[in-house]
Amino acid sequence: MSEKAQTETTENAAITQREAEALDVLRGALAKHGDAIALASSFSLEDVVLLDLLSRLRSGVRVFAIDTGRLPEETLLCADTAADRFGLRIEWYFPQHAAVEKLLREKGAYSFRESLENRHECCRIRKVEPLSRALTGLTGWITGLRREQNISRTRLETAEADMLHGGIMKYNPLAAWTAADVRAYAKARRLPFNRLYAEGYRSIGCAPCTRAVQSGEDERAGRWWWENPEHKECGLHARH
Ligand code: SF4
Repeated sequence: MSEKAQTETTENAAITQREAEALDVLRGALAKHGDAIALASSFSLEDVVLLDLLSRLRSGVRVFAIDTGRLPEETLLCADTAADRFGLRIEWYFPQHAAVEKLLREKGAYSFRESLENRHECCRIRKVEPLSRALTGLTGWITGLRREQNISRTRLETAEADMLHGGIMKYNPLAAWTAADVRAYAKARRLPFNRLYAEGYRSIGCAPCTRAVQSGEDERAGRWWWENPEHKECGLHARH
């Protein structure tokens, strides 16, 4: 066997193993929580992989998404494509309009660039508050977080109590996956993807807070690139 073929065989075995582990986590979560669990989707490649894995286990799994009002057009297009592919009825959540109006009237449309405090304020209004409503009534939620994404995620477990949200269970079935694992699975299953990945984006959030990354840069280097790496969370996944 050639060296290239051997490498591919080893990679395929690794992805098969990771896939089986992720399916186990999801199977257990669905059995435990029934209809009181949902996937939080930003339509990242990780989330589309999870949609595919879930579709192999059960139809009609709940999926919610947060439209912050600042999402790139490409993300919304990806959401619609994924909805068609998986037969989804996405539960969309928006920020409270009064809070957004107050923020823009008082501080303008780009206050998040001025200080970490302002950035957290914007994320709190546009993401954290809608998330708390999305989680109301759930006993578990599923995310596409991975350990290698950022130094703030290195201790991530595949299942953990989410103390930020009343101790409900949070499942991260792809915690051990690498970016290459995600790409390999998505390619093998011909999954839809956000077109911004083809332009050098590696992690995609709100349009004004996301840019493409250079080769060799950390995959979340394009998120809030003006901040230090340990600050690169929006409050949805902060760990206490
Ligand atoms: S990512 Fe940027 S635009 Fe989006 S909610 Fe956070 S600060 Fe606001």
